[in-house]
Amino acid sequence: MEVWWGTVVTQPSARPAPTRTCVGCRQKTTAEQLLRVVARSGRSPQDSWYAAPDPRRRAPGRGAHLHPAEACLARAEKSRAFVRALRHDAATYGPLDLEPLRQHLRETSTTGITQHDPPRPDETGSISS
Ligand SMILES: [Zn+2]
Repeated sequence: MEVWWGTVVTQPSARPAPTRTCVGCRQKTTAEQLLRVVARSGRSPQDSWYAAPDPRRRAPGRGAHLHPAEACLARAEKSRAFVRALRHDAATYGPLDLEPLRQHLRETSTTGITQHDPPRPDETGSISS
């Protein structure tokens, strides 16, 4: 058994997880908690551009990161964060359609694994203590 460079690399988990910033709430978190989003368009230049979810993080090009939560999507939409993060030229190509992304969040949020804000069990304020 040889030890190269005098160091033993036996801790793959010691590698720091890459962090990304959510374009909605601007919070920094590990990349795997965020959904990667890329700008896509149809085949012809006239086709409108849209924000496409990239759960596998394989799509080429610039990506934006977002908590898979509708609240963060709404904030990103308001602040035009996607246009900026994806360097989308809205003046030339038109606005970025976020509907496919919204649709994706609706579908995935029903599974319960991508909830950003856990629902509060009792918010009626019943005083019972
Ligand atoms: Zn967020």
